[in-house]
Amino acid sequence: MTPTDLTRRNLLGAGLALTTAPLLPGQALAKAGYRFTEGAFDITVLSDGYISVPGEILVPDGAGADRAAVLGQIDAPGGVVHAPCNIPLIRTGQDLILVDIGSGRKYQTSDGRMTENLMAAGIDPAAITRVVFTHAHPDHIWATLADTGGLRFPNASYHVGAAEWDFWTSPDFFTTMPAALHDFARGTQRDLAALRDRAVMLRPGDDVVTGLRVLDTAGHTPGHLSLELGGPQGLLIAGDVAVNERISFAHPDWPFGYDTLPEVAIRTRRRLIDRAATDRIRLLGYHWQYPGIGHAERRGQAFHFVPEA
Ligand SMILES: [Zn+2]
Ligand SMILES: [Zn+2]
Repeated sequence: MTPTDLTRRNLLGAGLALTTAPLLPGQALAKAGYRFTEGAFDITVLSDGYISVPGEILVPDGAGADRAAVLGQIDAPGGVVHAPCNIPLIRTGQDLILVDIGSGRKYQTSDGRMTENLMAAGIDPAAITRVVFTHAHPDHIWATLADTGGLRFPNASYHVGAAEWDFWTSPDFFTTMPAALHDFARGTQRDLAALRDRAVMLRPGDDVVTGLRVLDTAGHTPGHLSLELGGPQGLLIAGDVAVNERISFAHPDWPFGYDTLPEVAIRTRRRLIDRAATDRIRLLGYHWQYPGIGHAERRGQAFHFVPEA
């Protein structure tokens, strides 16, 4: 079975149906937020809670590995990994920037906590000036609309990869893409339509603001972007380039069941981690153990993630 088949078969079952996952107190409840600086940027990592990722998505049959043995090496109760959702809030100059915004409780019941954690950090949603999306999966973009209707961040501009926008809004989407992705697309199209008047299209090489550069990291989705913050150490906000900090680093060439373009995603994953290891640039991963900050170290042909906190 190819990874693509797995994606088609499992996307909905894995995501939308797992709505009874238990809350983990350490991950789902409000956190003060891990805070650090990088050059001109002051960064607080907010939590949106976590999502449940089944082992067969994390270690697809095509990986050629003993899934149970791999999952046994990480925290995967019942063969399911609880993957945190880490959202950087970036203060720089007059800007307050969020990179991805979580699911708004429209995806699973264990995520959608970002707004309460933002307010616990003392930030009014109306104060956010820019929202940047790494990509348009539900756990990254579905918080766009507030429960009361209207944009959750009413004064922000919304920075979206042009290729990502085109992928999800293609008139051919529902005839060319697998049915398992259709619910994702319906929700994402709802959100992109809601923010259309405030959308700023991003292309690789653009700067969102001075020192915050857009990188092409396509593969997980066709328009996936990462962000690079310039500073003494530098910081790469990886998004979903490497979804699990253990498996994706130790086995960068394994497919991941939610990657839309698996071969491209593998090349992208290896390239980004390799660069971070070579240049000693800090990494921030959306789904790594909170706060998801650390370094990549080389281990033969693969890598090891060293968390900072
Ligand atoms: Zn994703
Ligand atoms: Zn994700």
